[in-house]
Amino acid sequence: NNQVILKDYITGMPKLSHMLLKSTKLPLQLKDGSQDVLAKNLYLSCDPYMRGCMRNLPSYFTPIFTPGSVINGYGVAKVVISNHPDFKEDDLVMGITGWEEYSIIPGGNQLQKIRYTDIPLSYYLGILGMPGLTAYVGFYDLSSPKAGEKVFISAASGAVGQLVGQFAKMHGCYVVGSAGSKQKVELLKDRLGFDDAFNYKEELDLHATLKRYFPNGIDIYFENVGSKMLEAVLENMNLHGRIAACGMISEYNLEEGQGIRNISRVISKRIKIQGFIIHDYWHMYPQFVEKVRGSIKEGKIVYVEDIADGLENAPAAFVGLFEGKNIGKQVVRICDE
Ligand code: NDP
Repeated sequence: NNQVILKDYITGMPKLSHMLLKSTKLPLQLKDGSQDVLAKNLYLSCDPYMRGCMRNLPSYFTPIFTPGSVINGYGVAKVVISNHPDFKEDDLVMGITGWEEYSIIPGGNQLQKIRYTDIPLSYYLGILGMPGLTAYVGFYDLSSPKAGEKVFISAASGAVGQLVGQFAKMHGCYVVGSAGSKQKVELLKDRLGFDDAFNYKEELDLHATLKRYFPNGIDIYFENVGSKMLEAVLENMNLHGRIAACGMISEYNLEEGQGIRNISRVISKRIKIQGFIIHDYWHMYPQFVEKVRGSIKEGKIVYVEDIADGLENAPAAFVGLFEGKNIGKQVVRICDE
């Protein structure tokens, strides 16, 4: 059973050398009396939160990883043997699994059955999974959007951002996104239907850039990156603007205490800024799947994935998230059904 192991806790940027590919013997039986499931992993997800699990500090996603142990994250898998009454052989499931070919997973609330298989299975790690629900909750629930409002999204071409942008367009908003390459900017404008987009790496003064794209200010900011972008956004927010503080990826590899400066604008501009963690919203998952599945089938939503092939390429795919290498949702295909 090939596995990806985290060697030790990380400081700074994650690197390939922080992870190790190892082969172990697969137990052929489940423990008697357990409710475990032995599953064959088909797809694994690379998500930025996983970086927070690689340091020996409290993270918004617990538990943190144990050095020397297999990395875990969201995955899609097929049940091989089940001790749990809700799952049987050949069921397709999604949930937290290991970065390995086969995993023994507690069959409780860590796993759920995939109901619709007429949609690519990898979508359950993105548009129909945790990032999709994040975009849905963060936009509709936390941002209180109104048609005609001006919406700005950072890391806009990624798993979450691409969906927030499309939800906002469907809602009648004016939407601008930022991303880190020309190719991503073109994707936002040409395929994902954003009104406009820019490459933040080419902008010397983000405050002036945002003024150019939003001469009348920003009503809603969907925050994915933090640092300098958030500082510039705060200067450009409208009165009573709303910020859905989803993530701050540019800060994940920094040491503690290197934060943003002009947060006091939140007060002077009466901005509502709300942090959220998607784990508090899983009860909305069934409603979300029904709604978004329909939009996918009707072709109303475009979804862009970046699929790396093979478990051995999972570490590079994960590291790539922090270098902006992924174009769309980053997943790893372990094997086909
Ligand atoms: P993405 O698919 O967007 O991948 C990450 C992207 O972030 C990269 O492609 C890169 O795009 C950008 N990025 C990386 N490093 C930096 C940096 N230093 N400065 C600016 N941009 C950077 O990831 P997701 O869509 O999965 O996640 C987006 C955000 O949402 C993350 O912050 C994540 O932690 C957060 N999140 C929060 C959840 C919650 O429950 N609150 C749940 C899910 C996600 P580019 O080329 O544009 O730089």
